[in-house]
Amino acid sequence: MADTALMPIPGQIDPVPVARDITPREDGRIDVIGLSMQRLSELFGEAGLDKKQARLRSKQVFHWLYHRGVTDFAAMTDISKAMRPWMAERFVIGRPAIIESQHSSDGTRKWLLRTADGHDFEMVFIPDADRGTLCVSSQVGCTLNCRFCHTGTMRLVRNLTAGEIVGQVMLARDALGEWPKGKMDFAEVEDEAEYTADGRLLTNIVMMGMGEPLYNFDNVRDALKLVMDGDGLALSKRRITLSTSGVVPMMARCGEEIGTNLAVSLHAVTKDVRDEIVPINRKYGIEELLQACADYPGASNARRITFEYVMLKDKNDSDEDAHELVRLLKKYNLPAKVNLIPFNPWPGAPYDCSSPERIRSFSTIVFEAGISAPVRTPRGRDIDAACGQLKTAAEKKSRAELDRLAAEKQAALEAE
Ligand code: SAH
Ligand code: SF4
Repeated sequence: MADTALMPIPGQIDPVPVARDITPREDGRIDVIGLSMQRLSELFGEAGLDKKQARLRSKQVFHWLYHRGVTDFAAMTDISKAMRPWMAERFVIGRPAIIESQHSSDGTRKWLLRTADGHDFEMVFIPDADRGTLCVSSQVGCTLNCRFCHTGTMRLVRNLTAGEIVGQVMLARDALGEWPKGKMDFAEVEDEAEYTADGRLLTNIVMMGMGEPLYNFDNVRDALKLVMDGDGLALSKRRITLSTSGVVPMMARCGEEIGTNLAVSLHAVTKDVRDEIVPINRKYGIEELLQACADYPGASNARRITFEYVMLKDKNDSDEDAHELVRLLKKYNLPAKVNLIPFNPWPGAPYDCSSPERIRSFSTIVFEAGISAPVRTPRGRDIDAACGQLKTAAEKKSRAELDRLAAEKQAALEAE
């Protein structure tokens, strides 16, 4: 395991602890979730299957994992009875463990999840009339320390693996009951016509949970490839948005290698204020960031870049700030929309939320300049809504209490 004490990560603004390594499973089995079909086939080959078998089996397993959502090799009925225990001895189908789940009165659902090596992180589902958005985490904690963000007060524990990232989407499908149930559960041969992606609750994904996705680029890319792949979860890249605080050097690669929609956490229009609230600004300034947005592959009027702007009382919410925001977006000729986010307070936060009148005035100025600037309705306020809050609330409970909750949850699942 890496020593986490005061080793700088190259490219970071301040020395931060290096993320911990992932502790391998004690039983030595390999988690198949998050691996590409090619990699799975190679591993089957290394475990003893000949090339043709390995390729065929990886295709079959992939289908069961990502189209059917099975979590047990024994359920893979088109794989020979003898082969299924062979797989189960060597491989495992992982899901993050659910430690706690909360259901808000407005339909928002929030889960505290735990990795196999014992680190907690969050996932949120936000249903709307015409869509359902899953907010996915990319890291446990965050190396950056945006001052309004609760996750920013935590140390980075480690990057999530591709399996843990795509595993969140799979877990949400489990919880929402969104795996197709069809002939394949009973018969050896599947009628493809039985499988339909329509009518789902989970339609959109935003990489806006804990962590900075562009500081965990490879794993986020590999996970999102599985989410977008037709053999994987087959969700359109137009329904996926990656949010960055402004890791400028990674933005072009993000457009080229991932190709999802982009959201940028702008939050301020002057150097002083952005340096304070989004400290990565000291390394990559506003103009550099906006130039990277202008160069973002795939951005167009049909696929606008979202600029997130958290409304902080007397900090970034004046009419002058709104006019400056418009000026900057126009200067770079950006296909932009602005999301105004009322600040979600957390205990000890150094800011307050702007008044509704202030937010309205700010929104009107941006809107009248021809840029869409909706005010986001706060969701799930009754369930520790702001990013990072559930984890902290849970940490206040004793470990024993959490383990008891986890055991109860497991028992309830088994009883179902
Ligand atoms: N690290 C990435 C993605 C995760 S944070 C990024 O910074 O873009 C995603 C969003 O959560 C940020 O844009 C920020 O606006 C929002 N956020 C974090 N804490 C918040 C709070 N207390 N109130 C409102 N929005 C918050
Ligand atoms: Fe990290 Fe994003 Fe929070 Fe900033 S806003 S601390 S980058 S998670």
